Amino acid sequence: MGNQEIKVTHTTSKKTKPNPDTLEFGKIFTDHMFIMDYSQENGWHSPRIIPYQPITLDPAAIVFHYGQTVFEGLKAYKTKEGHARLFRPNKNMERLNRSNRRLCIPEIDEEFALQAIEKLVSLEKEWIPTAPGTSLYIRPFIISTEPYLGVAPSKKYQFIIILSPVGAYYKEGINPVRIAVEQTFVRAVNGGTGEAKTAGNYASSLKAQEVVSEKGYAQVLWLDGLEKKYIEEVGSMNMFFKVDGEVITPSLNGSILEGVTRNSVIALLKHWGIPVTEKKISMDEIYEAHQNGVLEEAFGTGTAAVISPVGELAWNGEPLTINDGEIGNIAKKLYDTLTGIQYGTEKDVFNWVIEVS
Ligand SMILES: *Cc1c(COP(=O)(O)O)cnc(C)c1O
Repeated sequence: MGNQEIKVTHTTSKKTKPNPDTLEFGKIFTDHMFIMDYSQENGWHSPRIIPYQPITLDPAAIVFHYGQTVFEGLKAYKTKEGHARLFRPNKNMERLNRSNRRLCIPEIDEEFALQAIEKLVSLEKEWIPTAPGTSLYIRPFIISTEPYLGVAPSKKYQFIIILSPVGAYYKEGINPVRIAVEQTFVRAVNGGTGEAKTAGNYASSLKAQEVVSEKGYAQVLWLDGLEKKYIEEVGSMNMFFKVDGEVITPSLNGSILEGVTRNSVIALLKHWGIPVTEKKISMDEIYEAHQNGVLEEAFGTGTAAVISPVGELAWNGEPLTINDGEIGNIAKKLYDTLTGIQYGTEKDVFNWVIEVS
């Protein structure tokens, strides 16, 4: 698969670009998409870039019934000079294959998949918005397409990449969010699919989200599925806390999704000499830190928001206000540094960025 030619069919009718000031998340798609097929006889084959269009599947396709599918999410950023940049995309491709292995989907050639992303982004370069905080969201995903109602791994798949220009996550400055600790529903358990980026995890999270939204909370903080005692993560973000000068984050335990942003935050904190520990963290411990006045910061990390400070955590019906509901110093510094590296205004000390020609 490594040296297959990606055939390009250009669109004959380019769409008008959206207004960058009113861009939302994930509603508008670019002119082209990447697609390739898998069959048992030919492996991954026929990579091509074609005009963005609907796909046709048999109603019996396995993905519709049993959810054998995985996805990724990353962004392309444009510098002031007009260069397109990707942030650690190799990490996303590694994770895509980890998800593939868990879902019994045949692995892709990571380097080739990255080439496909680069080629598509390069072709759609004019779709990368330039207003501050905006970017081009990249969604690679794999679906099982064999028409079969038996429960078994599909024999056919499609790997597709679509692109969507997205607005600034923070339009009016970074506002800390209110989060409810989820005490009824669970997201994942050890041995389940929590550490894979697969559709079912998100379908099963909708109910909890719906319940807390009605009470004015932005998201839920998931606890472990067995004892509902230990902190896991938030929606599509990993969690960090600063307690008495030390930054702590739940260790990867088999049910938490390993974020690229999480990994980058840990590397930056270490680089700055700020103590950071990955460990099992109970909600009791966070409550106690709050009561003792040493819960200094809480924030989520993920590609969409980069850093999302938490101003309030509700647990057992009690709201815990963190840092007076303001963004903390560490969260601010991480946000400025990460976005600076992504947009090319900060030194990329770890060589995380890949420029797309
Ligand atoms: C994608 C995702 C994250 C964040 O991962 P990043 O690579 O940092 O964007 C965290 N948790 C879940 C459940 C996710 O799906």
